[in-house]
Amino acid sequence: MKKIAALMLLLCLLLGGCAKSGPVETEIFAMDTYMRIRVWGDSGLVSDVCDEIYRLETLFSVTDEKGEIFALNRDGKAALSAETAELLAKAAALSERTGGAFDPTVYPLVRAWGFTADEQRVPAQDELSALLPSVGVEHLQLNGTEAVLTGGAQLDLGGIAKGYTAQKCLLYLENEGVQTAMVSLGGNVQTLGTKPDGSAWVIGIADPNEPSEAVATLTFTGSMALVTSGGYQRCFEKDGVRYHHILDPETGLPAGSGLASVTVITSDGTTADALSTALFVMGLEKGAEFWRGSDDFEAVFITQEGKIVATEGAAAMLGGCEFEVLAR
Ligand code: ADP
Ligand code: MG
Repeated sequence: MKKIAALMLLLCLLLGGCAKSGPVETEIFAMDTYMRIRVWGDSGLVSDVCDEIYRLETLFSVTDEKGEIFALNRDGKAALSAETAELLAKAAALSERTGGAFDPTVYPLVRAWGFTADEQRVPAQDELSALLPSVGVEHLQLNGTEAVLTGGAQLDLGGIAKGYTAQKCLLYLENEGVQTAMVSLGGNVQTLGTKPDGSAWVIGIADPNEPSEAVATLTFTGSMALVTSGGYQRCFEKDGVRYHHILDPETGLPAGSGLASVTVITSDGTTADALSTALFVMGLEKGAEFWRGSDDFEAVFITQEGKIVATEGAAAMLGGCEFEVLAR
């Protein structure tokens, strides 16, 4: 009897301990991907975060008629909310910074490939060539919260919206007094603070050949955004050729830069998302040069041959695999 009581007590302590320091967690499907939200603290905040995600999903969607990007694409001009205008300004700046490798005006191309409607097809070269002149961030004019699209341009924020949303969610939680949280929105992970037990965050990098498995881990403490762009996501095969959803805005074709994935690590989720897409388009060599000219992010590149290359700062966090280090 005593033994059972002692066991019960131990169980209570364990469960009690967990309830006190463990996170409240939920999973939702939004922005066309699975998302996980973990908050250490007030459980009600998790559903607030979900509402916030659904709200931003509508705002930035290319297909939701209630959204601002939908209206801007349809009408060629729109009066935007401060949030959408903020995201567009950031997207335009990141497009310029990356020499157009990240380009929020790729929507005509994305549609031609059928990625939006999930009706993938291989467009003819003529069709792509006809669309290319409308692609380019110079076609997006922002005047405060007024936006105008010229030259038949249309926006697709798929390469940046999840990063912005992750950033916004954590900012909301921080303002609510939460000290520790983590969101994982598709390939976009962002952490807030340090876990109550002081243990480090350990985030897996998906194996491009087996995306449900981790090929490596990144270990760190504190607030950080880690975003992976991979050619293994949203892809299809036609006549034995594999086509994926990250397009080279110069050619209109899926970026064939020799990379299987890129993970960007930086403090700002929006920047991390745009840069991961951009570096995937650039490839290892150009991406390494771009990193050497920057001082606000680290990256892990995985080549199509399976070679893992980490920038100096990323190398310090990377484990569970063999890798090469990129020096400055
Ligand atoms: P994911 O959305 O799978 O996390 P990314 O962040 O790399 O991956 O974004 C890819 C999405 O961004 C595509 O599905 C498309 O909507 C859009 N996109 C494709 N190519 C580009 C590009 N070169 N620049 C900006 N956005 C792009
Ligand atoms: Mg991205």
